[in-house]
Amino acid sequence: MQSAYISHPLCLKHDMGTHHPETPARISAIEDQLIASGLFGYLRHYDAPEATREQLLRVHDAQYVDQVFATAPKQGVVELDGDTSMNPYTLPAALRAAGAGTLAVDAVMAGEVENAFCNIRPPGHHAERGQAMGFCIFNNIAIAAAHALTHHGLQRVAIIDFDVHHGNGTEHMFHEEPRVLMCSTFQHPFYPYCGADSNNQHMLNVPLAAGAGSAEFRAAVTDVWLPALYVFQPQLLLISAGFDAHRDDDMSSLRFMDSDYAWVTEQLKTVAEQCCAGRIVSLLEGGYELYSLGRSAMQHIKVLSGL
Ligand SMILES: [Zn+2]
Repeated sequence: MQSAYISHPLCLKHDMGTHHPETPARISAIEDQLIASGLFGYLRHYDAPEATREQLLRVHDAQYVDQVFATAPKQGVVELDGDTSMNPYTLPAALRAAGAGTLAVDAVMAGEVENAFCNIRPPGHHAERGQAMGFCIFNNIAIAAAHALTHHGLQRVAIIDFDVHHGNGTEHMFHEEPRVLMCSTFQHPFYPYCGADSNNQHMLNVPLAAGAGSAEFRAAVTDVWLPALYVFQPQLLLISAGFDAHRDDDMSSLRFMDSDYAWVTEQLKTVAEQCCAGRIVSLLEGGYELYSLGRSAMQHIKVLSGL
């Protein structure tokens, strides 16, 4: 079965300024690698729809959603958070980014595709129930997970997060939701300075010290994530795919390599094949050094597609 590739041209129009690392060029860096590798034509392409208000409200406060809509500028730029701003295209892009995840869940649940990668921005995993944060406006992966639970009636959804930053928003939204198992690795101590002490059996956070690389990452996956995933038996596996733990990405001090992203995807694909007919939905989070981002995402998508 094919893999889906979900994106939208508006994700290239959200722009927080020339010096901001979360740049539109990130989308193109991934797409260029997929084209150069010959993978692009083999993926099943979808345009992301806008997420509905109902979908957003499953994880966000109505007051916050109203505030984002009211703040969206007709021209110029307005700040939502110290490092997150909106231009006139940000709100439509954020709605498409969230909608990509729900469409991906629908497509894999319907069996149209085995798995899906959403090449989207703004990213989502720092966005809280009532607050934009860390380049994120709506929590795309949480919206996808809530869609799987509520709309599709799933009882066990796993969220994997290998971005270098902890997915604080995702953790907070599902901290009291035993139908969600969250497995994450992240540099610690590091932004957003939480997650190391979740003290929760369905939030399996493995903090990694600055300088950690392939060996530490693979040990966390092998020793902590995989045993828990096989016990949990997810019906759907969601991935917050951030590539900013790469050694070439100076956003952080972790030292992952391209091959680590291929390896972890192979491990997760095996889990999904054994537990849930291979159903995986992966959403782009961070990754700011354009060359390593493009290569790492390509490795990830190549394994997902089985090509
Ligand atoms: Zn990140």
